[in-house]
Amino acid sequence: MSLLEHNIKLIHNKIQDAVEKVNRKAEDITIIGVTKTVPVSQMKASFQHGITHMGENRVQEFMNKYNILPEEIHWHFIGHLQRNKVKDIIDKVELIHSVDSYRLVEQINKEAQKASKVMDILLQINIAEEETKFGFTIEEVHNYLPLIKRLPFIRVQGLMAIPPYVENPEENRNYFKTMKNLFIDIKDKNIDNINMEVLSMGMTNDYEVAIEEGATMIRIGSGLYGDRLYVKDK
Ligand SMILES: *Cc1c(COP(=O)(O)O)cnc(C)c1O
Repeated sequence: MSLLEHNIKLIHNKIQDAVEKVNRKAEDITIIGVTKTVPVSQMKASFQHGITHMGENRVQEFMNKYNILPEEIHWHFIGHLQRNKVKDIIDKVELIHSVDSYRLVEQINKEAQKASKVMDILLQINIAEEETKFGFTIEEVHNYLPLIKRLPFIRVQGLMAIPPYVENPEENRNYFKTMKNLFIDIKDKNIDNINMEVLSMGMTNDYEVAIEEGATMIRIGSGLYGDRLYVKDK
């Protein structure tokens, strides 16, 4: 068994353990393979072993890979997205997780109209209110929902968060709980065009805790593909 297959198996086992603890089902969790810096050959291999959802965080890298990978891949965009790049990805990705400002929501709505589609998005919440991270605060998201619901070419499908990196994932449990509570609060409002179906949270280091607290999509990079080798490109 290759290291990749081993990693995939391990992740499935850990997902199983986490869902059993809280009476959820493994089928309710979607693994997104986070493939930034990962070579296309590795991505193809993971696709063959059932990782059919993949997420990239840079437009250029995504565009380079998109054309040479199997068209059955479900593509997710998970990085900070500049407004002038929305047009490049609008017809290629299934879900944009990292929608972090109202101006970006408006731009996606505009480009989706041009592309004659309704774009599924998640609103990114800056859950720990970190200066270095993008996203809406909880207060902001409540304030913007009445505006967002009026935009016909976007459909909010849920929320996404990137809590701080911590050695001990238990330290993030309260952030995951807060996300779940926000998710339920918004769901209970029953706003047209605002669906709360997807809760994208949990990465290699903390996905089990995220699942226990309600994650439906987990974004796993190094846990699948190994440590990333960063090459300076700026
Ligand atoms: C890189 C990245 C991940 C995956 O991180 P790992 O710790 O390698 O699992 C998940 N989400 C986002 C938004 C990322 O940029």
